[in-house]
Amino acid sequence: MNAWFRIPLWQRVIAALILGIIIGYLWGPGAASIKIIGDIFIAFIKMLVVPLIFFSLVAGVASIGDLRKLGSVGWRAMLLFVITGQMSVWMGLGIGTLTQPGAGIDGASMALDQAALERAQDRRENAQSFEQMILEVVPSSPVQVMADVNVLPLIVFSLLIGIGILMAKEDGEPVLKIFESGSVVMQKVTMVVMELTPFGVFALMAWVAGTLGIDALKALGQLVFLNYLGCFLIIGIIYAGMIKGIARLPVVDFFRGIVDAMAVSYSTASSNATLPVTLRCAERNLGVSRSVASFVVALGATINMNGTAMYLGLATLFGAQVFGIDLSWGDYLTISILGTLGAIGAAGIPGSGLIMMVLVFGAVGVPLETIALVAGIDRIMDMMRTTTNITGDAAVAVTVASLTGELDRAELISADDV
Ligand code: ASP
Repeated sequence: MNAWFRIPLWQRVIAALILGIIIGYLWGPGAASIKIIGDIFIAFIKMLVVPLIFFSLVAGVASIGDLRKLGSVGWRAMLLFVITGQMSVWMGLGIGTLTQPGAGIDGASMALDQAALERAQDRRENAQSFEQMILEVVPSSPVQVMADVNVLPLIVFSLLIGIGILMAKEDGEPVLKIFESGSVVMQKVTMVVMELTPFGVFALMAWVAGTLGIDALKALGQLVFLNYLGCFLIIGIIYAGMIKGIARLPVVDFFRGIVDAMAVSYSTASSNATLPVTLRCAERNLGVSRSVASFVVALGATINMNGTAMYLGLATLFGAQVFGIDLSWGDYLTISILGTLGAIGAAGIPGSGLIMMVLVFGAVGVPLETIALVAGIDRIMDMMRTTTNITGDAAVAVTVASLTGELDRAELISADDV
């Protein structure tokens, strides 16, 4: 038992992935009989959606209040978070549209229940009128919204509670404490659920390999590749452009200064777990002042997730292609807004991007069964998403520090001495 837990989770997950593919391939369609283990894993993930979003978003909004105190640093950081987030989702949408990774899988042959497809279709048709869309977003009964796992009105409700806490100032503090502590507790619960990942991944990969065959595996392999490509483009174009064009700093020195944090984030798949290292890199290697680093990097670890935003765009298109759903420009716009919101709502822990899919898929009518399809390969993609996320936090911190005179350039240039 101890030996099992001593192996890092990601290594157990990768082993389960490979083993699942081999067993499923040898077993053939019979492997569908163990899909139930994967379904249990996904049911646990769905369980996390409401409490995780609720606690983490309310606590997140309340911490934006702190950022406001920082004035010029605060608004610049928020602006860069939003702009890079939007560019990232559109990067995912662009890649997914050009390459059509989901076209290789025939969703109809997935032995999914037909009812799920019809429900998704229904949602699409019902969500057509603008008035209805607006009304759907209003959380007329918060309890009902939570019971239905209706994520969009839940987000609106959470934002309002967060704003209420900010307005209540000292009187709101006890409530804020509850949400902050609730958010930590939910992250621990998520970690417990993530311990089920190797079993879920094994079962889901065996099911995919056994029933859907090589074509499906190829399509999933392509999705992994595109996820990495998107992340590399975000780092190489958006971040490098920001460092060079706005902060006017040498790009190589920036990456040299942040490489430790990148390595930690890749192996932990958690922005939160990497936070101490990201902070240290930002202050000591990149020369960002303590006040800017602690605010921007810490807040960024919770709300600035460009790798996640990109992936939410890409994965939604993947699901739509698998199930032959034509998405309109309006849908693309919805995905871009919800992808950014989902990235804000995602906690900096392993697998939270997967949980946020419920939000985006639900809004444009992509069947939630897509989650079962991609859950098996999520960890490998999560590692790269997280690296992209924390590099973005550091890039924004350096840029804002440079713009506001909070950057010690001598420290940045001497990054290699550290
Ligand atoms: N694991 C990521 C992070 O901690 C979030 C995600 O799942 O995309 O940044």
